[in-house]
Amino acid sequence: MEWVDVDAVLFDLDGVLTPTAEVHMRAWKELFTSVLESLPDDSGADRSPYTDQDYFRHVDGRPRYEGVEAFLRSRGIDLPHGTPDDPPEAQTVCGLGNRKNVVFNELLDAEGIEAYPGSVRVLDDLAGRGTEVAVVTSSRNGPHVLRTSGLADRFEVVVDGGVAAEKGLRGKPEPDTYAYAAELLGVPVERCAVVEDAESGVRAGAAGGFGLVVGVDRGVGADVLREAGADVVVTDLAELLDGQTG
Ligand SMILES: [Mg+2]
Repeated sequence: MEWVDVDAVLFDLDGVLTPTAEVHMRAWKELFTSVLESLPDDSGADRSPYTDQDYFRHVDGRPRYEGVEAFLRSRGIDLPHGTPDDPPEAQTVCGLGNRKNVVFNELLDAEGIEAYPGSVRVLDDLAGRGTEVAVVTSSRNGPHVLRTSGLADRFEVVVDGGVAAEKGLRGKPEPDTYAYAAELLGVPVERCAVVEDAESGVRAGAAGGFGLVVGVDRGVGADVLREAGADVVVTDLAELLDGQTG
């Protein structure tokens, strides 16, 4: 199906509408730097400074608590797992994961975030054509990111990590969250486009029988996105307007 023919577009958020990945990276850095600095001298752990390499090796792409666990293990730090209800002060894997979320939200409030200009152009164009839109994100921070970036008013349907947990929907690469958004919009999946920058998200779109899967290459690589099932790969959403797709 062609981009201009779809009745609804389901957008991933981080990396598709907003450049949020960098904020997540900085939140992790702030968290782990403070963890390492607070260790006593005789802890026996590797207290060398946290770097971006730690991020790519242990945290990137993993669910939040698993990322915490992997990093701590790499430094010889042993903390109890705890539970997802742990407060952000708790010295547990879950507590640290929850604290990362607090830091992320603080950074967002302090510095704001601007949507990708090309993505805003596409949203304007779709609004002008009366095409339905929704946001589908694994993150529980979705509504906060949408408000901060000024995009919240454009989306009546937002399926985020909180909605997924509440409804018992499986996460990407399963298509459940995208399918649920299509259902809420009242549009059959074969009339919907999915727009994704992550391999797992593209797989979700391909697995769900959606009419069009658009991969946005923000660094993952066009080949990887095509391999995962993207029908079209762009580096900026505005290419969809200019017809520079391929
Ligand atoms: Mg993304």
